[in-house]
Amino acid sequence: MKWILFLGALIGLSFCGREKFFGDQVFRINVRNGDEISKLSQLVNSDNFKLDVWKAPSTFSRLVDVLVPSVSLQPVKSFLKSQGLEYSVTIGDLQALLDHEDEEMQHNEGQERSGNNFNYGAYHSLEAIYHEMDSIAGDFPDLASRVKIGHSFENRSMYVLKFGTAEGGRRPAVWLNAGIHSREWISVATAIWTARKIASDYGKDPTITSILEKMDIFLLPVANPDGYVYTQSQNRLWRKTRSIYPRSRCVGTDPNRNWNASFAGEGASDNPCSEIYHGPHANSEVEVKSVVDFIQEHGNFKCFIDLHSYSQLLMYPYGYTVKKAPDADELDKVARRAAKALASLSGTTYQVGPTCTTVCRACRPLGAVLS
Ligand SMILES: [Zn+2]
Repeated sequence: MKWILFLGALIGLSFCGREKFFGDQVFRINVRNGDEISKLSQLVNSDNFKLDVWKAPSTFSRLVDVLVPSVSLQPVKSFLKSQGLEYSVTIGDLQALLDHEDEEMQHNEGQERSGNNFNYGAYHSLEAIYHEMDSIAGDFPDLASRVKIGHSFENRSMYVLKFGTAEGGRRPAVWLNAGIHSREWISVATAIWTARKIASDYGKDPTITSILEKMDIFLLPVANPDGYVYTQSQNRLWRKTRSIYPRSRCVGTDPNRNWNASFAGEGASDNPCSEIYHGPHANSEVEVKSVVDFIQEHGNFKCFIDLHSYSQLLMYPYGYTVKKAPDADELDKVARRAAKALASLSGTTYQVGPTCTTVCRACRPLGAVLS
């Protein structure tokens, strides 16, 4: 009995240590023109209000979602009113929503323990996701295997699921990436669902069967494991890695600004405390380097798809320049077909375009952190 109480106290303590968002709200602000975007950027870039842009405007939508801490509610409302900016409140109390999410996760964990099944409609711990990757490999031993590609800054293993129908060799391959921004849990959930779907549809669905006859698929569901664990134990809204550098006063790098592609260019920050900090040098993050090393060593990857949230956008290169990619026409055609196929199944409309012109140019003045 004592042990149970002690354990209870420990759990209680760990929840107390979590960052809380009591009374914080999310505003949806309608920016109708460049003038309104620059007014909003004044507000967002002011250190006084500690705003966080959750959804930037794109060429398809002029709506901006911004997290407003409870202490900033009154001044932000006054500013928006004085500037004539239209807004509505989409989340009235962020902490209430997060508490609800927590309860759902705990309830689901209990259900899974008693039923010994993995609920693809729920969020999971890192451990549960790794366990499910093992189960998929175990259920489809001729098709799937779990491969360790490296480890995180805090020394957690990084696993991919490899799907392939032929032994050995370096077949042309596709990389599916998720969870590089740790708070984007739905991308992790989507990836693990996709993994099960690939495995169970092989030999039944002609499209996935024909892809796997010719190519291998590598799927990394949690590209930022330290961040993911941190979002579940300390701060639900943590986005970056958990790396620490000697002369830096803030923790973490945006791993999606750490690739060796236009490193430290526009759309990234050299401030270690920024949500879009690019890190001390390209590939400084061991999580990023593990992916890069694996892909380079393999040498025959044809495609890299990264899942983020939230928006309904299907974007293709480039992300760092408005210049057209050499195969932009083909990419656009493929993306439009994918969006059409998706809409035919779920009715969800995805907008299609190159990353830079679709979202980044519009969101830069807001210092937004969408992708
Ligand atoms: Zn992201």
